[in-house]
Parts: sequence; structure tokens; C-alpha cells
Amino acid sequence: MRTPFRHALAAFTLPLVLGACATVPAEPAAPVAHAAPIDTGLVSAADPRAAAAGAAILKQGGSSTDAAIAVMLALTVVEPQSSGIGGGGFYVRGAADGSVETIDGRETAPRAATPEWFLDPAGKPVSFNQAVLSGLSVGVPGNVQLAQEAHRQHGKLPWAALFAPAIALARDGFVISPRMHEYLDQARDRAAADAQGRALFFNEQGEPLPAGTRVKNPALATVLERIAGDGAKAFYSGDNAQTIATRVAAATPHTRAMTGQDIARYRAVPRAAVCGTYRAYRICGMGPPSSGATTVFATLKQLEGFDLGALGPRSPIAWHLIAESMRLAYADRERYLGDSDFVSVPVAGLTDPAYLADRARLIAPTKTMAQALPGTPAGAVVAYGKGASGAESGTSHFVVIDRDGTAISYTSTIEGSFGSGIVIDGYYLNNELTDFSFTPQADGRPVANRVEGGKRPRSSMAPTVIYSPDGRLFMAVGAAGGATIPAQVVRAIIGAIDWKLTAEQTLALPVLFAPGDTVFVEQGSALEAMIPALRDLGHTVTPRNMPLKANTALFENGKWTGAADPRSEGTAIDP
Ligand code: GLU
Repeated sequence: MRTPFRHALAAFTLPLVLGACATVPAEPAAPVAHAAPIDTGLVSAADPRAAAAGAAILKQGGSSTDAAIAVMLALTVVEPQSSGIGGGGFYVRGAADGSVETIDGRETAPRAATPEWFLDPAGKPVSFNQAVLSGLSVGVPGNVQLAQEAHRQHGKLPWAALFAPAIALARDGFVISPRMHEYLDQARDRAAADAQGRALFFNEQGEPLPAGTRVKNPALATVLERIAGDGAKAFYSGDNAQTIATRVAAATPHTRAMTGQDIARYRAVPRAAVCGTYRAYRICGMGPPSSGATTVFATLKQLEGFDLGALGPRSPIAWHLIAESMRLAYADRERYLGDSDFVSVPVAGLTDPAYLADRARLIAPTKTMAQALPGTPAGAVVAYGKGASGAESGTSHFVVIDRDGTAISYTSTIEGSFGSGIVIDGYYLNNELTDFSFTPQADGRPVANRVEGGKRPRSSMAPTVIYSPDGRLFMAVGAAGGATIPAQVVRAIIGAIDWKLTAEQTLALPVLFAPGDTVFVEQGSALEAMIPALRDLGHTVTPRNMPLKANTALFENGKWTGAADPRSEGTAIDP
């Protein structure tokens, strides 16, 4: 155990600088809005209409699983830039009795895919944008199967009831939000790539419809009605599957494209949650193919010997320690994480407290380590090379607590804004396969996250549930924002556990992202004022505008409180 660095604290404490929304509060605040007693439940989502869909289901007596499915479906309609039935997701369920289950609804590569998937005929990786806007990027969508599997296990209301709010939004129309308009504008190469996308969201001059415009999506309403009536098979077989396969194959520049069989064979997979203890709190999340749980847990655990609570959120030393720990965790993530059905991922070794205590010895409070290298966790029999994949932005996280005190933490994604741009009956298909490494080998070694037939691309999504030392459910949290997701989740957890902040304050904290030897601090946030102090410690620091969007629920003062990221249009409501 290391000693707290109170002496250093005085030297580095800076005046409080408030960013637009990312703030560093001095003290835990009084309870805030959105408080919901446990008997009514709570929903936090990135769009108020999706949160309302979940709340309506809770009100009808639905379980948190029912409500989470309704949120996922409603987001398909009102936040098409981020997630939906054309993509996949991860579902984590934390019950009041301490049991945690997860379901992996990650997209799969077509069976015929090979490690050379993203290489051109000359053997060079194609550009990220070229890949995204083609059939190469599209994985078999997993969300509908995930929903069916989750409902089979934990649904209370009839399956069809969960679709009613989303069908109403699609059939009767919904209003384009300012954020959606912004994405239509910025990502128009994807949003308007397909004639259906243009017809839905653009005017005759090719300009995105303004915020406030009411849009109806009858094709999507019909698809949702079919799935509501016939179950997931209405998505994975018949017309829907045939249309997906035909459209994706037509957009794929070689003959190994997705087939109807790939779609028919898709299965959502229940997997063991990855759990570990940080300061006597049990942190549980999504293991491979996600790098979420291992990266979040390693970053936290390596910090256990430092008294972050005493340092506080306004201490550059605290953020330096977080950066150092994150660099180590991301180095391991890059080396070892991939789909464990295909490559050996040493999850137990990566989360072993003794291994992480060893790694923590590389962290010094007074100085930056020159280079953060991957370690050798137990079970690391194959040494993988460092992969190469592109930028990410998109995704939606939501949290539901029901009257039984069961938490669902679900992250749903189509990967980038408007996914691949391909629209099937009113919904966008994902570009999740660009989460694979484009290069199959590095330094003569295979890359763990290389493309293989039927494999799931490595994810950063980190839906998490946390139990307090007395065994009660304490927090459910997750985020969107590609590789920044573990960083956002870590910051919220440290905010809640070490800094005793409220739900809203944990998400208002600024984000520091250190995936390698450069540290990125959230542009316009309080962290910018700490740049000189971080540089003095040896960091290469750059302010960066990052796509940040987290949602959480926290048990505080004897009740659940929900919060949505102040940077987002999200909200937390109780029914
Ligand atoms: N596709 C990304 C992942 O699975 C998430 C993308 C995002 O959050 O923007 O890690």
C-alpha cells in the first residue's frame, strides 16, 4: 500500500475552473433531481423519449429487462445515429441478491470472412472511410436476439408490449432533436448514403431536415410490428434477413460477403460476468469480446494503493495517477483483448489482484513512466501483436432499475454515426466490423482482434454494475464514445466511490483519456487548467474534443438517483 500524497496536494491544488459542463465539484452535494424510491424504479437514457418508453413499461409492471428492451427499441427510432436493431449490444443484469448475468449481443463477421478482410488486392489495409461505407463493415446484428434471450430469461410483460412505445414513435412520428440534426449534418456521408436515409431525413436539396421537424418512419414501424408479432425470427429469417444479405453483398467488394445463413445462425450468448473488488466494492461488467470490464477493473485496481479520496478531484496528482493506471490497462487491452471464442484471452490473469498490484508498482506519484508496455498476465500463452483500428463515435448506454431493485446496464450500438449508412426498412445497419484490427499481423505476430469468420470484433463498451461493501447494489453505469468508454466509466466510479459524489456530479466530472503515451484531457473542462501540472510530471498532454455520453444510476441516501450526461440530450426519469 502506498501512502496518500497529502503533501503534494497542497502544492498542486488549483483554483476551481468550471468548464461548460465538465466540472470538478469541491464537496459532495445535496441530493438532486430525478430521485426515485426503489419501489417505482428508474430509467436513464440518452434520449428523453426512449427514457419515457422504458418508464411506461415499468409503470405497466414490467421488469427492468422489459424496460431496457423498450428503451433499445425506442432509441432505434429517435436516435438513429447511435444505435438500434441494425446493431448489437451488451446487457448486464445485477440482481438485488448479488447475482450478475450478462448477454453478449455483439455483431459477428460473416462465416466466410478471413484475416485479410480489410486488405486490398495489393495487401494494404483499405482506408477507414472506404471500409465503413461498404458491406465490409457490416456485422450480423445482435440486438434483437439479445432482447429475445433477455426477455426469455427475465421478461414479465408480453414480448409485444415492449414494442408499443417504439412503434408509436415510428408510426405517429417523432421530432428531430438538435443533436440528431447536428449528426445528420456532420455525418451526412453516412446518413444520406442510402436513398432511404435521404428520403427520411433530408430535403429535396439534400440538406438535413432542421431540428424540430416531425418525421414518420412507417417502414420501421412495420418491421417492429413483425418482430413484435413473430419474435426474433422475423428479423433473422424471411424478408428482413434476405434484404440485409442482398444489400450488404451488393456493397461488398469481394465474394465472401454476408449471407442469409450467417444471419439465420446468429446467437446472442450468455457469458459469465467479469467481477473484481475495488476498495471492497464489487465491480462487475462485460468480458470478451468486450475489453470493457478488464480495462475498467485494471485501471481501478491499480489505483487501490493510492488514496484518491484524500487527493480529491481537484488534484492534478489524482488525475496523473489515473492517467498512469489507464496507460497500463490500455496497453494490456491492445495486446490481449479480442473474442475469446477465437483467441485465448487471459481474463483471470488480467484481473488477478496480485498481477495488478505488480503493475501498480510501475506507477509513481511524482513522475510519468516513460512508456506503458503490456505486462505478462497468467495464462498469456500466445503473444499477440498490437492491432490497428479506426476512430469511433456513436452508441447509447442506458440504465434501468425496477421495483425489485434489479439493475440493467445495457450498451447498444451501431458503431459510428449512422453506422454503415445502409438503411433496411427505416433502420441503419451497423459498421461494427471496423472495430476489428484492419491489419491481421504486427511484428510477425497475429493480432488478437484480427478478422475471422463468425468472430465478434473487440469492443470498448463497458456496461457495469457495482455492489457496495455491504452487498447492496450501489451503481449501474456505462457510456458511449468508442475507446473512451472505459475512461468515462472509471471516472464515474472513482467519482462515486472515492469522491463520494452524487450521480449527476459523477457524470459532470471531466474525462481524462490515456490510451497510450499521450494523455488527452477533455477540451473546455476543468482539466485544461491542470495541463501545466501534468506536463511538469512528464506527461504529453493534449486537450481533445471527445464524444462523451454516459448514463448512470446510483444508490445514495437510501434511494436510487439517476443521471444522464450533461453533455447529452439524455435524461433520467422515474415512472
Ligand atoms: N463500436 C464501439 C465499441 O464497441 C462503440 C462505439 C462508440 O461508442 O462510439 O467499442
